[in-house]
Amino acid sequence: MSRAYNFCAGPATLPEPVLRQAREEMLDWRGTGMSVMEMSHRSDEFVEIAETAEQDLRELAGISDDYAVLFMQGGASSQFATIPLNLLGDNGRADYVNTGIWSKKAIAEASRYGDINVAASSEDSGFTTVPLQETWNTRSDAAYLHYTPNETIGGLEYDFIPESGHVPLVADMSSTMLSRPLDVSKFGLIYAGAQKNIGPSGLVVLIIRKDLLGKARAETPTMMNYQVIADNGSMYNTPATYSWYLAGLVFKWLQEQGGVEAIAEINRRKATKLYGFIDDNDFYANPIDPRFRSWMNVPFTLADDALNSAFLKGADERGLLNLKGHRSVGGMRASIYNAMPEAGVDALIDYMAGFAKEHG
Ligand SMILES: *Cc1c(COP(=O)(O)O)cnc(C)c1O
Repeated sequence: MSRAYNFCAGPATLPEPVLRQAREEMLDWRGTGMSVMEMSHRSDEFVEIAETAEQDLRELAGISDDYAVLFMQGGASSQFATIPLNLLGDNGRADYVNTGIWSKKAIAEASRYGDINVAASSEDSGFTTVPLQETWNTRSDAAYLHYTPNETIGGLEYDFIPESGHVPLVADMSSTMLSRPLDVSKFGLIYAGAQKNIGPSGLVVLIIRKDLLGKARAETPTMMNYQVIADNGSMYNTPATYSWYLAGLVFKWLQEQGGVEAIAEINRRKATKLYGFIDDNDFYANPIDPRFRSWMNVPFTLADDALNSAFLKGADERGLLNLKGHRSVGGMRASIYNAMPEAGVDALIDYMAGFAKEHG
C-alpha cells in the first residue's frame, strides 16, 4: 500500500495513524462486536466516544465552560443561514467582512435574513489582502460581526483577531481551526466544517458562548436551533456518528503531537519553507500580501499557464495529488493542513524545483 501526499483543500488528508486506528476498529470497536458506524447513538459506548471527543477538543482549544460545543451536520455552508437565524434577534442587523469567496457566500446567505452591512472588503485588490481594522465600517448596534479568518480558496489569512467590543465576534474557522493557538474567549461563535483539519465532511463543529443560545427566531427550523442542539447534547436527531468518532481520533492524534502549539510550530515551518521557495524562484509566484499569507492553503502560479497540465501530470506521477487551484482562481494550490507531513511539503518543493529547472 502506498499513501500519496494529498494536497486537496477539502476533504483533505487525514493523519495516517488515525486511519490505521479506524481500520483496526472498523469491524469490532473494543470488543463490542460492532463498528462505530453500527452503534446506537444512545448507547453508552457511543456517548463515551462523543463526550471524550468534546472533552479533548475543549482541552486542545482551551474552551471554557462559558461555551457550548456543538457537533452539527450540513457542513459550514449550512451555518451561513443558521447563524443569522439564531443570532440576528430583534434588531436584525449584522456586519460582515468580505475577504474572499467564502465570505461572499456567507454574506449572500445572511442577506436573505436581515440587514447585512459589508463593513469592509478587499475585493478591489482581488482579495490579496485583509483590510486593516481601522478602515472597517462596523455598527455598534449589530447583533454580531462575522469574518473568515482563513480564506481557503484565496489563501488569505488574518494575522489578528478583530476587536468587536461588546458585539459578538463570529468566525468561519473551517480551514484554520486547531492549526495555531487561539483565544476562544474573544469570540461569540466559532464554526468549522470538519473536512479540513478535523475529520470527514458533513460534520460541522461549533463553539458558542452560552449567552448567545436561546435567541433563535421563532421560524427557525428545530434542527438549526442552537438551543435545541445544545440541550440535547447534539443528539436531537441521529448525529453523524462516524464522523464524530473520527474527529475524536484526530483530536487524540493532535494531543499526541503535543497539542496546538506544537502543531503550529510545524505549520509555521511548512508554510515558511514553501513560500520561501516560491519567492526565491522566478518561475513561481504567490499574489498574496506577505503579511496575510495563509499557513494552510498556498496558491501559486507558474510563469506560463500553458505548463499547468504538464505540472499537474508530473505531480500526479510522483504521488503529489490535487494541486490544481480552485476554478475561480486558477493556477495551483497546495493545502498543507495539520495532517500534511513536513516530508510532503519537502517532496513538493523538490518536484517544483526540478520542474522549474526543466521548463524555466
Ligand atoms: C470548506 C469551507 C466552507 C464550506 O464547507 P462545507 O462543509 O463544504 O459546507 C466554508 N468556509 C470555509 C472557510 C471553508 O474552507
